[in-house]
Amino acid sequence: MLRTSTCGELTAARAGETVVLAGWVHRRRDHGGLIFVDLRDRYGRTQVVFDPSDSPAAHAVAEGLKAEFVLQVEGQVERRPEGMANPDLATGEIEVHATSATILNPSRVLPFEVADDQTADESLRLRYRYLDLRRRSMQSNVILRHRVVKFIRDFLDARGFIEVETPMLIKSTPEGARDYVVPSRIHPGHFYALPQSPQQLKQLLMVSGFDRYFQIARCFRDEDLRADRQPEFTQLDLEMSFAEEEDILRLTESLFTELVRTVTPEWRIISPFPRLTHREALDLYGSDKPDLRFDMRLHCLDDVVCASGFRVFRETVEAGGTVRAIVAPGVADYTRRQIDELTEMAKKAGAKGLVTLAVGHGEVRGPIAKFLSSEETAAILSRTGANEGDMVLIVADQVPVARAVLGELRRALGSRLGLAPSDLLAFAWVKDFPLVEWDEEEQRWDPSHHAFTMPKEEDLPLLDSDPGQVRAQCYDIVCNGFELSSGSIRCHRRDIQEKIFRLLRYEPEEIQTRFGHLLQAFEFGAPPHGGIAPGIDRLVMLLAGENNIRQVIAFPKTQSATDVMMGAPGPIDDVQLQELHLAVVLPPSDDKE
Ligand code: ASP
Repeated sequence: MLRTSTCGELTAARAGETVVLAGWVHRRRDHGGLIFVDLRDRYGRTQVVFDPSDSPAAHAVAEGLKAEFVLQVEGQVERRPEGMANPDLATGEIEVHATSATILNPSRVLPFEVADDQTADESLRLRYRYLDLRRRSMQSNVILRHRVVKFIRDFLDARGFIEVETPMLIKSTPEGARDYVVPSRIHPGHFYALPQSPQQLKQLLMVSGFDRYFQIARCFRDEDLRADRQPEFTQLDLEMSFAEEEDILRLTESLFTELVRTVTPEWRIISPFPRLTHREALDLYGSDKPDLRFDMRLHCLDDVVCASGFRVFRETVEAGGTVRAIVAPGVADYTRRQIDELTEMAKKAGAKGLVTLAVGHGEVRGPIAKFLSSEETAAILSRTGANEGDMVLIVADQVPVARAVLGELRRALGSRLGLAPSDLLAFAWVKDFPLVEWDEEEQRWDPSHHAFTMPKEEDLPLLDSDPGQVRAQCYDIVCNGFELSSGSIRCHRRDIQEKIFRLLRYEPEEIQTRFGHLLQAFEFGAPPHGGIAPGIDRLVMLLAGENNIRQVIAFPKTQSATDVMMGAPGPIDDVQLQELHLAVVLPPSDDKE
């Protein structure tokens, strides 16, 4: 090794030892005669002192050092002089007095400084990701990710789970996104799809008898990106045979609980995880991934306002809609402008308008307050629990719209008013989703989870008569407003699976070409099974206290799905195109000819 010690390990106990360190020049300070260099590696930083009287040659090398040069230093570990110790640094008690120094490699001036307090533009950081990853905050994210994955592997191994790799070049397995496809050279005109998840393969492993499977699996989905989405991402993909919903919930919950306690004990969690039905989540919080770090529930006012003096309320309820409210604490004195902003937000989320009632100075104020009788006003306050200083925000609309709008306002106000404790991970289960949802635009049923989910036993008869009412045996873990995992008990019977494919409007021929292998497997003794797939990127993002998954992925793509470091995607040359039997037809605006 070119070193005897790392830059993070030397303490006063090692004083007197001769050591060799190697690392990057983090900072260099020239104090006339003495030169101080903070040498850095991923383990920490050590102060190296170059004193011409220890070694003129080493001092001469130090004179030429610049930031991020790679340096090897030999020297003596010495306690720092009285009063000079740095308690913030693990190696802060000592310094190394250099007796020789070798520049292993110089560095050009960097496009940004490798320091945590430097806020470089993200596209620059991504272009030079290898430099960005030198920063301590990024290194600790990457290391945390390693620890999380290691913990998961050990936890599952101890419980009899077997990790099995499944292929990347497969046939489309739908999870609600577009496929990334790979052209075949050997089979002209044929394409592989990259897995949106290993869903079908893990089910097939159940048919093989691997009753406890997992994989740290890469998934690929071509969909619009957001802060918590990447075109390729990682899941803990897990499946169990002979398991019921409760078994999977228990196993996953104890995995998450133990993981946080062991790897990131600085987070508080709520144990056991609250369990909400999908319907409760929507009714109480206006979202199927509610942030439960704070309360602010939605309240239904239908019975209170059904005979309201305010016509919009009355008529909405009469027409089968709903009037619902949340209470924003302590904002009764919001200005006109601030209220307009909330109204704008409500409209963006789909509302026609927003009614506000400010409770302050012994009265209830708001543009429609005068239409409400005093009993009605009192009933609204008592239903919502609004107190002096609060503001009641009310939406009158169709049920899904009212829930979604208030859910969005709740989310925005929660963060604006700082209602969420910063040390809490509020995990919860959301269960009993409908099996399918009606897609108005496409005029067809879409699976809420995916096509392989088993309906609740007691709802099976509804598959023919009222599919929208069928509840699925599926469950999500949510945390702090993010969906972290989805899972379900699967159809292991061919007849039910086929029926669901038909409900989802797959043509018989398509069912055969796309899923024939799976349906056939179900005829060879498929055990009952189910599973779940927690997203590793989002989980690590939350554990790291970050709000963007790019911060916990070593080499992520930008928001527009590009790799700006390597320059992907990019064109390929004509020879490759020919080999692949492909011709490129550019859209008119990109057509250079
Ligand atoms: N394959 C599912 C997904 O990727 C997870 C599961 O059902 O296990 O969301």
